[in-house]
Amino acid sequence: MSVKVIYEKCIGCSVCKDVCPFDAIDIIDNKAVITDKCTACGVCIEKCPIDAIGKEESEIQGISIDDYKGVWVFAEQREGKLLNVSIELLGEGRKIADQLNTNLTAVLLGYNIEDLTDRLIKYGADDVLYVDNRLLEYYTTGGYAKVICDLITDRKPEILLIGATNIGRDLGPRISSRIHTGLTADCTRLDVDLDNRRLMQTRPAFGGNLMATIICPKHRPQMATVRPGVMEKAKFDKTREGKIEKIIPYLTESDIKAKVIEYVKGGKAEVQLEEASIIVSGGRGLGSPEGFKLIEKLAKKLGGVVGASRATVDAGWIDQAHQVGQTGKTVRPDLYIACGISGAIQHLAGMRESKCIVAINKDKNAPIFEVADYGIVGDIYEILPELLIGLENMGEILEKAEVCE
Ligand SMILES: Cc1cc2nc3c(=O)[nH]c(=O)nc-3n(C[C@H](O)[C@H](O)[C@H](O)COP(=O)(O)OP(=O)(O)OC[C@H]3O[C@@H](n4cnc5c(N)ncnc54)[C@H](O)[C@@H]3O)c2cc1C
Repeated sequence: MSVKVIYEKCIGCSVCKDVCPFDAIDIIDNKAVITDKCTACGVCIEKCPIDAIGKEESEIQGISIDDYKGVWVFAEQREGKLLNVSIELLGEGRKIADQLNTNLTAVLLGYNIEDLTDRLIKYGADDVLYVDNRLLEYYTTGGYAKVICDLITDRKPEILLIGATNIGRDLGPRISSRIHTGLTADCTRLDVDLDNRRLMQTRPAFGGNLMATIICPKHRPQMATVRPGVMEKAKFDKTREGKIEKIIPYLTESDIKAKVIEYVKGGKAEVQLEEASIIVSGGRGLGSPEGFKLIEKLAKKLGGVVGASRATVDAGWIDQAHQVGQTGKTVRPDLYIACGISGAIQHLAGMRESKCIVAINKDKNAPIFEVADYGIVGDIYEILPELLIGLENMGEILEKAEVCE
């Protein structure tokens, strides 16, 4: 929906300008003019004393929803490596496409990364739109948004899924605003209403206190970003075949407002919880921030990363980037070790899909044991040092075994 002024009626009284919360209305030549800042919130429509402002529905603009077909997944890659969330979205996209009896298309942007196209097919895409250009080597909002918007306008997909990564959270809103469609950010569940082909997009709302299901009935494509780690990864099927289309985009340097001068990796290693196959998490049971040193030691020994409960983040013991749970990250590692974490429902929401859960807690009735594959009842400060010694010894035994060979 967008907002339009009915100029025959408008008397330039400025009521709309005064009430607009986004400062999106100017009065020019005694008429209200809606500017780019408009979010279509509708306050001006409500307050106009002479009904001179109204809604402009997509049908009026000539959008025919039936023209839009197919499910698209934005295949995010960094330095030629496909992100796990892209593989998760292909799994989910495949299910949705099968339900809607339509094609699943992976949209891949980059430079000299042809080798990824076949992998996208093997992970479930029917076809791949591969846009190859030197200007797409590194992500820029302007470049990527332009290319994807052009593709959408040209080919009209009915659904577009994007990972809720830093890039996806930047790209999704830019595309939806240019294309004039809705976007549900940070979805944790997707379903389809087969009666009307609507995508039911579910995400936590009001600080995680309730789950809201959102639809986009009048605009296309229906766009959602999906949290990494929430959906199951697609299976790799080496027998799958599909169509790969290489596209040369209409893209010039002037389309990209921000220029990439240099690509510098952050000095402080980013916490890659969603990508980790081993996570060792600490909870309030650690008693103090120093406890995380032990957690870090174990994580390092196992080649994993450090997670945390919200209680420890709220206490300022560790950065929020480590938080697992409903309002933190959703993870699915092969091994999740919960140390001194009670297992509150909001924590479980972020890690219960882990392949193997080990819980260490001194309270044998702690709810974490209900989801744990292995439980150790005891004090973390007695168990973790023992575990570290055990791993040390095991390392030595393995080293000796190698020498013997
Ligand atoms: C809207 C909302 C969203 C939320 N989102 C999240 C979220 O994303 N992630 C999240 O984690 N929480 C979240 N929470 C908070 C959640 O409800 C819990 O408060 C939190 O998970 C508790 O953290 P904890 O398990 O570390 O602490 P506690 O519940 O206090 O548990 C500490 C545990 O440590 C054990 N323990 C104590 N000492 C030792 C010891 N020496 N050795 C072994 N065990 C010991 C205790 O027996 C206890 O089970 C959310 C809450 C709300 C309302």
